[in-house]
Amino acid sequence: MGIIKAKNLIYNYIKRDEEEKVEEVSEAVRDVSLDIEEGQFVAVLGHNGSGKSTLAKHMNALLLPSEGTIWIGGKDTKDDDALWEIRQTAGMVFQNPDNQIIASVVEEDVGFGPENMGVPTDEIWQRVDECLKAVGMTAYRKSSPNRLSGGQKQRVAIAGVMAMEPKCIVLDEPTAMLDPNGRKEVIRTVRELNQKKGITVILITHYMEEVIHADRIYVMDEGEIAMEGTPQEIFSRVEKLKSLRLDVPQVTELAYELRKKGLSLSPCILDIETFVAELTDIWKKRTGSSTAKAAAAGPASAE
Ligand code: ADP
Ligand code: MG
Repeated sequence: MGIIKAKNLIYNYIKRDEEEKVEEVSEAVRDVSLDIEEGQFVAVLGHNGSGKSTLAKHMNALLLPSEGTIWIGGKDTKDDDALWEIRQTAGMVFQNPDNQIIASVVEEDVGFGPENMGVPTDEIWQRVDECLKAVGMTAYRKSSPNRLSGGQKQRVAIAGVMAMEPKCIVLDEPTAMLDPNGRKEVIRTVRELNQKKGITVILITHYMEEVIHADRIYVMDEGEIAMEGTPQEIFSRVEKLKSLRLDVPQVTELAYELRKKGLSLSPCILDIETFVAELTDIWKKRTGSSTAKAAAAGPASAE
C-alpha cells in the first residue's frame, strides 16, 4: 500500500433544511480509487468544481468519506485514534497564503507548527533554519509576513508545513492567487522538496504547465478520475483534455497538430522555448541549417 490509498471513495455534500431533512445532495467525489507511492510527485488536474479540493480534504481527514475508504500512511481516516498521526503524515497547503500565516514574524510562523507539536525549543530553531533555507526565505526570517509578495508568503506557508516534518505535502492550488513569477517560485520550491528531501507531493492545480515534471497525473472531471498517466501520456491527448475543459496552452495544441501531420515533436510541449528548440533540431536534421530563424519558418515549408 502506498502512502495515500483511496478505494471507491465517494463524498456527498448534504444540505439539510431546519428539520434536518435532506434538501440537496451534491456528489463531489464519485468512486475514486488511487494509490500513491511514497516519494512520488503526483499532480491532480481538473477544471473548477471537478472535486479536487474535496478529494484533497480527505487526505488529512478534514473530510471523511461518505462511502469507501482512504488510508494515509496505512491508517484509515475513519479511525479517530489515528487522526493525530494522519495530520502529521500529510500536511496541507491551501490557495490563500494569508489564511495560513498566523505569526507576525516569518521565523515564528514557521516554528508555530512544531511548537504546537511539543518539539523541544532547540530542535524547533533547527527546523526553522532548515525549512527557511529549503524554500529560499532565510533572508526574510525577521520580516513581517505582511510585507512579502504572494509567492514569498506561500513559500513561508510551505516552510511552516515542512517544519512539522510530514512525509507528504498536499498543495491545493497553491499558485492560484500568485503572479507568474510567484507561481514559478512556488513550483520550483515544491519540486525541490520532492527531489532533495524525498517528500511525497500531491499538487492540485488547473495549470497544465505546472505538472509537466510530475511522476503521475490524475485528471478529475465531475468528481471522477477521467484520465490517469504520465505527463507524456496525458499531454498527448489534447482533444480529450479540451473535452475535460482544461486550458491547453496554444503551443501544446500547435505542436499536437504538427505531430499529427508527422513532425517528430515530443508530446509534452508546454512552452515556446521547448517548441522552438525541437523545431530547430528537426530543421537542422533536415537541412543542415542551424539558425533558429530558419527553423521557425520551418514547419510550414517542411509539410
Ligand atoms: P474543485 O476543487 O475541483 O473546484 P470542489 O471539490 O471544491 O472542486 O467541489 C466539487 C463539487 O462539490 C462542486 O460541485 C461544488 O459545488 C461542490 N461543493 C464544494 N464544496 C461544497 C460545500 N461546502 N457544500 C456543498 N457543495 C460543495
Ligand atoms: Mg478547489
